[in-house]
Amino acid sequence: MPIYEDQMAYEDMVRVSRDHCCSECGNILTVAWSADRNGYVLRCGRDITHAGYVKEKKQTMYPGSHVGGIPAKEYKEMEKELG
Ligand SMILES: [Zn+2]
Repeated sequence: MPIYEDQMAYEDMVRVSRDHCCSECGNILTVAWSADRNGYVLRCGRDITHAGYVKEKKQTMYPGSHVGGIPAKEYKEMEKELG
């Protein structure tokens, strides 16, 4: 099942969709409009019934989508991981 706006704010969905992928098939996540729920949903790009997402391991650069490099929060996490 996708994640609905009552579980996550739209802005967070957009952020999560950028650096996470589906935990079931590894496909990209997309933020879509749900007419049923009259709100946005965060869903697997391949199969809307897939649930869950995982952080993408690779630091992939999407040309044009990164405005300010690595967000401070992620940088802190990297520091923790790398010691
Ligand atoms: Zn999936």
